[in-house]
Formats: sequence, C-alpha cells, structure tokens
Amino acid sequence: MTDLTKAHLDHRRVWREFDYCYPVISRRSRGLSLGVNLNPDKVCNFDCIYCEVDRTVPPRRKDLDLDLLDQELGLLLDLATSGEIYQIPPFDSAHPKQRRLNDIAFSGDGEPTTAREFADVVARVAHLKAQRELDLVKLVLITDSSRLGAPEVVKGLEILMANQGEIWAKLDAGTESFYREICRSQVPFERILDNLLATARRWPILIQTLFLDWRGQGPGEAELEAYCRRLEHILAQGGRLQAIQLYTVARPTPEPEARPLRRLELEAIAENLRSRLPGLPVDVYYGPEEWA
Ligand code: SF4
Repeated sequence: MTDLTKAHLDHRRVWREFDYCYPVISRRSRGLSLGVNLNPDKVCNFDCIYCEVDRTVPPRRKDLDLDLLDQELGLLLDLATSGEIYQIPPFDSAHPKQRRLNDIAFSGDGEPTTAREFADVVARVAHLKAQRELDLVKLVLITDSSRLGAPEVVKGLEILMANQGEIWAKLDAGTESFYREICRSQVPFERILDNLLATARRWPILIQTLFLDWRGQGPGEAELEAYCRRLEHILAQGGRLQAIQLYTVARPTPEPEARPLRRLELEAIAENLRSRLPGLPVDVYYGPEEWA
C-alpha cells in the first residue's frame, strides 16, 4: 500500500452533484483520469462476480443528457488543466507524479458500448479535448469486449482511435465455462473472441484481465493454458496486442467468495504469461495488502 494515496483509494464514481462525469486518480492511468459514465442506469450485459457497482442503491437517473454530460466534462477538464483539482480532497493527497491528466475514460456503471449514444458521445468528447488542444490526453474505452464488432460501435471506435484512443478490452477467461462462471453473461464467449481478433487486426488493443480467488481457488493451470492459447491465436492471426493489464479484486465485492489473489500468486501468473507470450508486456496491479 506504500505508493497508494487517499486519492488512489477513493474510487467512487461520483463528483459533487454530477450525473455522468467524475475524476479519479487511477493506478492504471498513472495519474488523473476523468471518467464518463454512459450507463447511469447501472445496467450491464455482464454480471461479473467481482463487479464493484453497487446495484442495491437505485440509480439517480437512467437517461443520458448529452448537453449536460458536455458541461460536466468541460468543467472537470478546466479544473484538471488549471491544476485547481489538486487543491480539493481527496486529490490534494495525490503524489506530484500523479498530478497529470492522463485520459478521459469511457467507463462507469455498465458497458459503455451498450449506450445507443456511444459514437455521439465519443465525438463530443473528442471535440472538447481538441478545443482545449489536449493532444497528449488519451481517450480510453474500458470495455467488456461484447459489442466491439457492432457497426455503430465501430463508428465510435474510429473516432476514438483518431483522437489518441486506447481500447482496454476485458478477457477474464480462456474457456467458455470459466467465462460463464466469472462474467455470468449471455453473450457467447465465441463472440468475445471474434470481437477481440477483429478489433486487434485493425488497431492495437490492450487486454485487461482480472484473475481472482473464487471460492478459495485461483485460476487453474488448464485455464491459464487456454487463456494463453486465445491470445496466441489473436497474434497468429495478425492481431496486435499492446500489453496485458493483469489485476485482481481491489475493493470489497458483493460476492463474499470473490477475493483478491495474493501478491505472490498474481506474480506467479504474470511470470507464466510472460514466458508463454514473449514480447507482450504484462503489467501487474496488485490487490490491497491488508487482504493478503
Ligand atoms: S463488465 Fe464491468 S460493469 Fe459490467 S458487471 Fe462486469 S465489472 Fe461490472
């Protein structure tokens, strides 16, 4: 926990009375990330056993008001670029190295690409960023990979990737059965794999993988083997992978048996992946030490 500040630990997706946009200090962004929540209704097409979205609390609203979203993001961009945000708790505890706006992330309380307005919002956000000449600030899509192949989503990806975009695509399993157990989605696993391959053939993508201790066990050897084969297949078929972000549960989940892997377990998995997939960086994000 030594490098974690209060700002790191405070990951609530809320900012004052805002409905859609929120700032976080993110380990994976190594700085400030402005989140754009396209799922205020908290609906998701996955039901991951480790999901941190609190669905016991009813949503404040269910609709997307794009003009209001613009206003909220504009205000946060102004606070971030002026540096004023680092005088406001908990961002006043951010380490000096974290006091940089790294990205605007399409994330939030569900799967962003399920929003009908996805491509429109990406275009609006890209415009706000261009107006402020924030060429170094990335646009990040954090996705469960289920809709990457839908034409209206591809339209949004084209805008994203023309504006310093990055696609962080979830893959938590190597086999259909493990995927069903962890992600509890009706989307066929085959579609996830097809989407990853098609997208990675067009643009480099980053694979986000959460492994955890589920009912007292981490992912077994056979699962890791199958997972590596999926990524090898993408590479062999001309897909480009930037890196794997390997992480574990970082905050308490609604499923008491979904627990973080210990540091040594996660490191052993990372080493396994590095030896199986040489040349592909594996960045590891550990769980909270007090759980270990
Ligand atoms: S994809 Fe994300 S928001 Fe949806 S259930 Fe999984 S962790 Fe939660």
